[in-house]
Amino acid sequence: MSVNQHTHAGPPYGQPQPGYQGYQQPAYGGQPLPGVPHTQYGAYNGPMPGYQQPVPPQGSVRALPTSGAPPPASGTSLPSGHQGYSQFGQGDVQNGIPTSTAPMQRPPASQPFLPGSAPAPVSQPSTFQQYGPPPSSVQQLSNHMAGMTIGSTSISAPPPAGLGYGPPTSVPPVSGSFSATGSGLYAPYTASQGPPPPSVPQGLPLAQPPFSGQPVPTQRLPTEVPGFAPPPSSTGIGPSSYPPSTGPHPGPPMSGLHGPPPPTHPPQPGYQMQQNGSFGQVRGPQPNYSGAYPGTPNYGSQPGPPPKRLDPDSIPSPQLNELPPQQKPRHRIDPDAIPSPIQVIEDDRSNRGSEPFVTGVRGQVPPLVTTNFLVEDQGNASPRYIRCTSYNIPCTSDMAKQSQVPLAAVIKPLATLPPEETLPYLVDHGESGPVRCNRCKAYMCPFMQFIEGGRRFQCCFCSCVTEVPAHYFQHLDHTGKRVDFYDRPELSLGSYEFLATVDYCKNNKFPSPPAFIFMIDVSYNAVKSGLVRLICEELKSILDYLPREGNMEESAIRVGFVTYNKVLHFYNVKSSLAQPQMMVVSDVADMFVPLLDGFLVNVNESRTVIASLLDQIPEMFADTRETETVFGPVIQAGLEALKAAECAGKLFIFHTSLPIAEAPGKLKNRDDKKLINTDKEKTLFQPQTSFYSNLAKDCVAQGCCVDLFLFPNQYLDVATLGVVTYQTGGSIYKYAYFQLETDQDRFLNDLRRDVQKEVGFDAVMRVRTSTGIRATDFFGAFYMSNTTDVEMAGLDCDKTITVEFKHDDKLSEDSGALLQCALLYTSCAGQRRLRIHNLSLNCCTQLADLYRNCETDTLINYLAKYAYRGVLNSPVKAVRDSLINQCAQILACYRKNCASPSSAGQLILPECMKLLPVYLNCVLKSDVLQPGPEVTTDDRAYIRQLVTSMDVAETNVFFYPRLLPLTKADVDSDSLPAAIRNSEERLSKGDIYLLENGLNIFVWVGVNVQQALIQNLFGVSSFSQISSTLSTLPVLENPFSKKVRSIIDMLHLQRSRYMKLIIVKQEDKLEMLFKHFLVEDKSLTGGASYVDFLCHMHKEIRQLLS
Ligand SMILES: [Zn+2]
Repeated sequence: MSVNQHTHAGPPYGQPQPGYQGYQQPAYGGQPLPGVPHTQYGAYNGPMPGYQQPVPPQGSVRALPTSGAPPPASGTSLPSGHQGYSQFGQGDVQNGIPTSTAPMQRPPASQPFLPGSAPAPVSQPSTFQQYGPPPSSVQQLSNHMAGMTIGSTSISAPPPAGLGYGPPTSVPPVSGSFSATGSGLYAPYTASQGPPPPSVPQGLPLAQPPFSGQPVPTQRLPTEVPGFAPPPSSTGIGPSSYPPSTGPHPGPPMSGLHGPPPPTHPPQPGYQMQQNGSFGQVRGPQPNYSGAYPGTPNYGSQPGPPPKRLDPDSIPSPQLNELPPQQKPRHRIDPDAIPSPIQVIEDDRSNRGSEPFVTGVRGQVPPLVTTNFLVEDQGNASPRYIRCTSYNIPCTSDMAKQSQVPLAAVIKPLATLPPEETLPYLVDHGESGPVRCNRCKAYMCPFMQFIEGGRRFQCCFCSCVTEVPAHYFQHLDHTGKRVDFYDRPELSLGSYEFLATVDYCKNNKFPSPPAFIFMIDVSYNAVKSGLVRLICEELKSILDYLPREGNMEESAIRVGFVTYNKVLHFYNVKSSLAQPQMMVVSDVADMFVPLLDGFLVNVNESRTVIASLLDQIPEMFADTRETETVFGPVIQAGLEALKAAECAGKLFIFHTSLPIAEAPGKLKNRDDKKLINTDKEKTLFQPQTSFYSNLAKDCVAQGCCVDLFLFPNQYLDVATLGVVTYQTGGSIYKYAYFQLETDQDRFLNDLRRDVQKEVGFDAVMRVRTSTGIRATDFFGAFYMSNTTDVEMAGLDCDKTITVEFKHDDKLSEDSGALLQCALLYTSCAGQRRLRIHNLSLNCCTQLADLYRNCETDTLINYLAKYAYRGVLNSPVKAVRDSLINQCAQILACYRKNCASPSSAGQLILPECMKLLPVYLNCVLKSDVLQPGPEVTTDDRAYIRQLVTSMDVAETNVFFYPRLLPLTKADVDSDSLPAAIRNSEERLSKGDIYLLENGLNIFVWVGVNVQQALIQNLFGVSSFSQISSTLSTLPVLENPFSKKVRSIIDMLHLQRSRYMKLIIVKQEDKLEMLFKHFLVEDKSLTGGASYVDFLCHMHKEIRQLLS
């Protein structure tokens, strides 16, 4: 390989460079952080500056990014989008190709290094060392709610010493009515009265009776939580069923409900079987669950009211396990009697999973994300593209404020559809482009009203009347519908695409196909861990799978390669070369690309040269001693290369360490966990320099999306390194303490998926709304240069943007509310397109209608993103408190305005929100908002960034992981075993469980698992021989092994990231980590148990009502 090292011809190293200075202009310093709330919102429906121009309707009417213009002020005042785009190319000239007279220099491998600088062998700690030892004192275990006075009239006893947040022991005020709500959850109670009700429809809010005027016990709405109010004796549970408030209860209440029905029904025997609190109870994995269904024997055979169900032992936490049973404090609340996520999920599956969700009706609440269902587009966007917190919006802002229910949509514009569903049709309106409203520029959609015989149409968003272009004219039928209604996707479907005209392109020029640039850290750690060799090997094959459009034979995407440590190496892989050529740029202070021709190439044409390069890279750097890396210049180099090639693209950066080498964007180690729980904690989430934010802005202007693969052995400041990734719409992956043997599968699967997945480049998204509401806030991985347009250098099929809406006028029940999301993007073949999603919502004047049409999973998605952004600016405790307060207000408003009058001692939850407390508690306990000692600052920044782009399904499983009893799986069926609740008490030591949260899969093995099962799954003969370091299960030829592996494969297919497999043996030290995910339990880091949190929420609600 020939090597050119170009020295920079400009000013000396380290001095300010003219080009570089541009990044530091003060004008850019004021750029808001990503996700920081925008305070200025122009009138949403008012025309944007670009729209004020008297351009023809099909003209460049979208507000185009203006970020490329040097001073933001002038950029935003550009008279038209064309000019905005024309600014983009102007930076290119600063970084010309260096002259060929640059002196040749030695290859990096022969560069001298100081003997003393050789790094010590890098110790590779076990992957789990990041999770340190558990807290040593019980004080540390006291949860964050310890400071909240639980003692109210109903909850007064102080917790036992050492249990920071002990369960209350007093009896709550007896308030009479217990409502046997329609949820199967309460079947145990009704069972005592007789057989359970025959399959009551559940989870269908629309089918439920009105809120008012009906006696509570006959309502299925709302959910009342027993324990907060003892049910009347007619339900089988009277006050006497509660543990007496004095002294420990003699018997273990739970066993009767959970153990094998007949023998353990009397409390006592079951209790004595119990060892260490939880595992001893021979509980089927979810007897409560299956038993909750009508017709199951468990409950029907119960002779009497389930006594003493309200027992604290039912939620053992680790420290409780150490106590002898008699000393355990008592809960009043039976975990089986409070709303169960599993029950809600299963109910929705059985009620809504069998029929397609047809989108023809306004304001329909879709099935839950956990339900498998097909969608039929009949005029509204599929819930795979848009999900809302509520499908019925209050008519006035006063109502909205009163309820405190956030109005938000989680939008995934390029979501992948199952093969059974139809991809959005591509509509070509010809040279004049898509038909749009003259005033608000909304795109033609099913809700536009054609009038005057079809000659004009009235906009459904702004009511303006627009002439129908001659080429688009069509007659109307007797109902006023165009006769070509069903022939045109934009008239009959919720989602479709328009082919964009040149007016929608930068510089009035159709884009070139995008490019992928692979940028590999070749410093000591990367080489020694085998990472560099692994990446190079993988790239050889993965390049054959670059995204292709439709039926194209080969991908239009060109590729380029860079390696780097303290300096950058560019490679010429032109097809005509016999060998690749390396060009070294050692002056990283003013990055330029030393070659244009031959850097970005077609894979097929340059196949041999690329293969040769990828073979040589690991050899070239095999003996490197260079430990320092740069990072900013790497992104700059990729950006400059795309600028020079005049295309958008994606950088794949594989990076290992904190960039401490002298260069723009150099960072220092500023990690300080002592800041946790102080007012300065927010700085841990903020970038340490504005350099990357400024760089991100330039990247967005060019359509340069940055995907980051991190392999840290120590702190590398994800909060700062992730800024460009975040603001360009890229993805970040982190493999702490990367070890080839255990982590390569995960990394390679992630890389393959990341390279192959559908992505739109140079994207701009705008959400239009009908009069009365407007989009006011946005969450996700993107950049905004104004208050309405979400800009993303790249937007892939996994990314969501969450949009919040506020009222700016009254809405009407008749007309409802409309959303139109328009995404302008460049496809992987370089085609400019617009993807349109429309959604119509109902509007209500009664709060009950709002509460009946909410979607809690989406609400949690929004609340988590809102909170995770809040930690950038506010103390974490304040963020947690405000979350609790908002949810308490939501529930209090329901109680006050929608629920039937009842005793204040009752907690009454709206049916659609009955899981709000349990899910909210999971958000509050998450690593970002309440880190344990083992969670690193980088972990928190990483999680914060991931969650911000997650869709509703991902946040659902991330915050409330899925726990499957593997030993209950039917090896003869394709189905998954029914999930169980995330609590230690649900685990039996004779079983094996799988827990997944979208990032990890744990396989937990009980100490008493039969030897045969262990042999079948792990190929070893005893529990003690199971290795905790396995990263995959051995491939064994028996039904159980096949079944478990097929379950794991199935789970991997459902997630956008390859999950890390972790084997956890009961009572092993790794179990601490596993228990962290048993989110209904009190957590070791101080998070409340579900039951305790529900008590707390109840108290908060009562305070608001009193
Ligand atoms: Zn309009």
